[in-house]
Amino acid sequence: MALFAVFEAVAITLWLTKGNLFYLFNFSYIGAALAVAVALFIRGNKNARRISQLLIGLYMLVYLGLISGENMQIEGFWYYLFTGVFEAATIHYAVAKIFGPLLFGRGWCGYACWTAMVLDFLPYKVPQQPRRKKLGRVRYVTFAASLVFVAALFLAHVGNIERIMFWAFIVGNVAYYAIGTALAYAFKDNRAFCKYVCPVTVFLKPMSYFARIRVTCDHDKCIGCGRCRRVCPMDVDMLDDSRGRENGTECILCLECARNCPRKAL
Ligand code: SF4
Ligand code: SF4
Ligand code: SF4
Repeated sequence: MALFAVFEAVAITLWLTKGNLFYLFNFSYIGAALAVAVALFIRGNKNARRISQLLIGLYMLVYLGLISGENMQIEGFWYYLFTGVFEAATIHYAVAKIFGPLLFGRGWCGYACWTAMVLDFLPYKVPQQPRRKKLGRVRYVTFAASLVFVAALFLAHVGNIERIMFWAFIVGNVAYYAIGTALAYAFKDNRAFCKYVCPVTVFLKPMSYFARIRVTCDHDKCIGCGRCRRVCPMDVDMLDDSRGRENGTECILCLECARNCPRKAL
């Protein structure tokens, strides 16, 4: 209910300030989907997070992206930023990926992202190989490439950029799914794309460092069995409560660690 209330506050504020009923529908729907997922999780439903991913991911990919023609990827964010319009992708990025993570960390990555929604169906839910830290630099290349691509369209005064952005959304998503799937099999890790390539993590990681909602350990209950670390898809050291813990900004709040802890210490 608290989660739903936060989204409802965003929904009503944007509806009234921008005079557009769409925002009331959009954020109420996302808040309701998340609230249902959390309620299912509390009741012990193993598929709660997947239900949230499908409810929100499909809505954004199919309805907002394909039907409404909004580029909700990072290129869309740059596009709306350059046009000076606080709409669609800029609002989405502000709420889910830039300021929201100060509260809920990388909850977006665990419960709503339409790329991970598909990648999480692949067989390597727990990484079978150690993380290759240096490969994470690739994210800065993809981040810069997305910015340069949109900036070049504006600088070259290309006509009908809106149409180009729609096709960029389709091509971009196909590329994300193809590269994400190939990397998952190459590294035996469903989340390899998230760890090494995704440009959005350039926003997500620093902001989620300060997240209010995060996994911590009750060391009085913990028996040091290590089960939590073995099931974590993002290689987080959740036994260390400090903000500087290993891969701390990678946590997607999937709560697999908490669900598997025999002592309910997380
Ligand atoms: S890291 Fe990128 S691809 Fe992975 S879940 Fe987050 S936003 Fe989606
Ligand atoms: S699974 Fe629970 S008891 Fe085992 S190490 Fe992790 S927090 Fe401690
Ligand atoms: S298993 Fe725990 S520490 Fe790892 S990503 Fe999920 S919630 Fe975060």
